[in-house]
Amino acid sequence: MLKKGLYLRFPPEIVEKPIVYRLVRDYNLAFNILKATITPGKEGIMIMELIGDNRENLEKGLEFLKQMGVEVQPLGQQVLKNEEVCIHCGACTAVCPTGALSVDRSTFKVVFNPEKCTACGFCVSACVTKAMEIHIQSEAA
Ligand code: SF4
Ligand code: SF4
Repeated sequence: MLKKGLYLRFPPEIVEKPIVYRLVRDYNLAFNILKATITPGKEGIMIMELIGDNRENLEKGLEFLKQMGVEVQPLGQQVLKNEEVCIHCGACTAVCPTGALSVDRSTFKVVFNPEKCTACGFCVSACVTKAMEIHIQSEAA
């Protein structure tokens, strides 16, 4: 099973079309929406994991998104934790959907496991000291 973390931007003219549904129906892909802000008539933003059983279907699905006018950017392992400004308040652990941020019970410090991170960005918004930094790749998927 292959997974790809994606940042998708839907322009207003296509925001109400069932585009994500067609990824499932036409390309045999599954998805896990981590965050979505979609308002009819306005631009929509979605952060998701796209899941397929082979690379060919994933690539075809990505090509379909681009043909429909969706801006697609890959999410990788671009989230970093700045230990110098982290105060170990734990706010990020409450919003992290993958368990990449957790409290070490022996030290009561918040630890970051980049291997579990999908770069969804939830912790970046939640962190009061701006210790979590996200870097979105700019090249096309
Ligand atoms: S929310 Fe920020 S300051 Fe608090 S534990 Fe997480 S990274 Fe550290
Ligand atoms: S970006 Fe932050 S909230 Fe999202 S998976 Fe990575 S550590 Fe967790």
